[in-house]
Amino acid sequence: MKETSNLFTPKELADWQQALDLANYTNILHHCHVCDREWVASTEEICCCGSRSVERIACWQFPDD
Ligand SMILES: [Zn+2]
Repeated sequence: MKETSNLFTPKELADWQQALDLANYTNILHHCHVCDREWVASTEEICCCGSRSVERIACWQFPDD
């Protein structure tokens, strides 16, 4: 392997940021405050009951208890 700078190139940084963004949106727990439905989706969704009063929690943000 040849010696290179430890710094990422702008393209590598962009790819990395995109991967992080994707990871953040992979598992989002949705909780509808109207019908109490809970589901997991990869993007922010409105509830199938039509409510937009939906709480969204990224799964990696779950508290320990
Ligand atoms: Zn609902």
